[in-house]
Amino acid sequence: MKQETEFVNFPKCYESCGGYCCKGFKNANFKFFDGSYVALPLLEKEFNEYKKSGGIIGLEEAKKIEEFKLKNGAILRIFWLHCSLVGLCNPHQNRPLICKLYPFLPKVDNIGGILDFFSASFFDLFYEKSSHPCTLVAQHEDEVKAQLKNSLEPLLKDPLYIFAFRACELLAVYLKNSLKKEFGSYLINEINDENHVKFWQKAEMLLLLRKAWRNQEFYNEICDIHDEIAQIWGEFLPFK
Ligand code: SF4
Ligand code: SF4
Repeated sequence: MKQETEFVNFPKCYESCGGYCCKGFKNANFKFFDGSYVALPLLEKEFNEYKKSGGIIGLEEAKKIEEFKLKNGAILRIFWLHCSLVGLCNPHQNRPLICKLYPFLPKVDNIGGILDFFSASFFDLFYEKSSHPCTLVAQHEDEVKAQLKNSLEPLLKDPLYIFAFRACELLAVYLKNSLKKEFGSYLINEINDENHVKFWQKAEMLLLLRKAWRNQEFYNEICDIHDEIAQIWGEFLPFK
């Protein structure tokens, strides 16, 4: 992927929402996420390209690197940038893929065909379209998805990104299911007012402690997704 590639074209959309997606997804009910930065995950390959391009001024280094070992020994590394630039990232074209794809990620099959879309941020999973803080979701959903269908085509010829999008989809499903189990829904507008605080605090804890994903079932499913994709495309992750 070329660093200057853009995927969604809605100039100055931040004027309609106050730049919601760059402001740390603040929520008055959260006790620990204070919204002082946005945590941005980059795949190792993307991070290397990001570094080569010079990155974003003030956001050159990863704050945290995570490593996950799959059953076949392949290693998935995630580099985390913590962005407090509230929309003023420079050069703008160097912002990470997750920023460029926001507000949607593609739901894909193993050969990179787009089946649907889902929220690019876990903090957005709890809103339905009509009350969504992002104007692109609330008012321009079809247009954004049409743009993404075209612009994502080259990226979806790379098994690493196919895997990443499928893994993100699974993360979202597990998170939603955890909330559904306790509250009957993962959408805030379907939760009784008296349970709102409890709902948000549970959502925060699930995200903070990663509780929805700390189980063998989730790990097995991630490894299965990896194996299915590797069977078609060949191995796409490093082993050390
Ligand atoms: S992508 Fe959505 S939330 Fe982000 S600036 Fe544009 S309209 Fe606002
Ligand atoms: S890198 Fe830019 S687009 Fe991404 S969160 Fe930071 S300010 Fe927003």
